[in-house]
Amino acid sequence: MTIIMLDPGHGGSDPGAIASGLQEKDLNLDIAAKTRDALRSYVVDVYMTRDSDIDFEPAQRADLANRLGAAYFLSIHINAGGGTGFGSYVHINACDRSLALRDVIHQRVSSFYRSSGFMDRGKKSANFAVLRLTRMPALLLENLFIDTAGDAVKLADPVFRQQIAGAITVGLVQALGLAPVSAGEQEEDINILKSDGLIVSNHGVAEHITWGMFAAVINRSRGKSSLSDPWDPAGEVAKLKADGLVFSDHDEGGEVPWGEFAAVLNRLRGAGSTSPWNPAAEIQKLKSDGLLDSTPDPTEAVYWGEFAAVFNAARKS
Ligand SMILES: [Zn+2]
Repeated sequence: MTIIMLDPGHGGSDPGAIASGLQEKDLNLDIAAKTRDALRSYVVDVYMTRDSDIDFEPAQRADLANRLGAAYFLSIHINAGGGTGFGSYVHINACDRSLALRDVIHQRVSSFYRSSGFMDRGKKSANFAVLRLTRMPALLLENLFIDTAGDAVKLADPVFRQQIAGAITVGLVQALGLAPVSAGEQEEDINILKSDGLIVSNHGVAEHITWGMFAAVINRSRGKSSLSDPWDPAGEVAKLKADGLVFSDHDEGGEVPWGEFAAVLNRLRGAGSTSPWNPAAEIQKLKSDGLLDSTPDPTEAVYWGEFAAVFNAARKS
């Protein structure tokens, strides 16, 4: 199984940066622990270089990851020195794979920070010991500035730290292609769509659903199409629009974003429609009605497994 080593920076007699009544070592540990917990929903083994307030040298941290054969090393830090925002570091001699994984994780985490009003300080490289001594792709995140008031007030908020952990988790899941633990259940949900006559062929749980397929399943479930109709994906999408389930045109081969999926499902189940258009609120409606556990980004594309699980839950309720 894939092993991820999370590395909460500093610890014990080394507090890291201190300011605003906060110690970097505590924040690093909390964000790492929250990330580890969030990763429990995925098929991956997560280790931490420390899970308490202890001294642990950078070389020992790297050595631990090397000996365990970790596939990825992620070091979590808070910046200091008077600045603001988020930045990430790979080693100055990072391999191509390390750079590619960094790009995915940086993009995800930075989009969270930007949506929270913080700047992206960019993708950087440095000769930090943990990056130099680890033999697997490795990344170090500098999460805001502990000595800048606007940053510190957010860092002090456990809810915000949970959101940081959520963004890091999604980045790791995307970068490393981690499968949800619920993959088996999602396969079962796709089979239910099949046995209920809503789809003909098999679809992988981690395969993106297209607008054409999505529209066809929705239309069949509401009796507006049937499996015996000739396959006409553009016509299926047009039917959704004609019946007011979507308002704009969608390419039948394009991926369906979570926000659009949630909106269609809410309209279909009579849960109303947000005005003005608010895809995050549509997703929230699914969550508050118990149809969804996670909080996907509204622009993220929906997988077949996720679609089948949520759609079946909605049909049952
Ligand atoms: Zn640090």
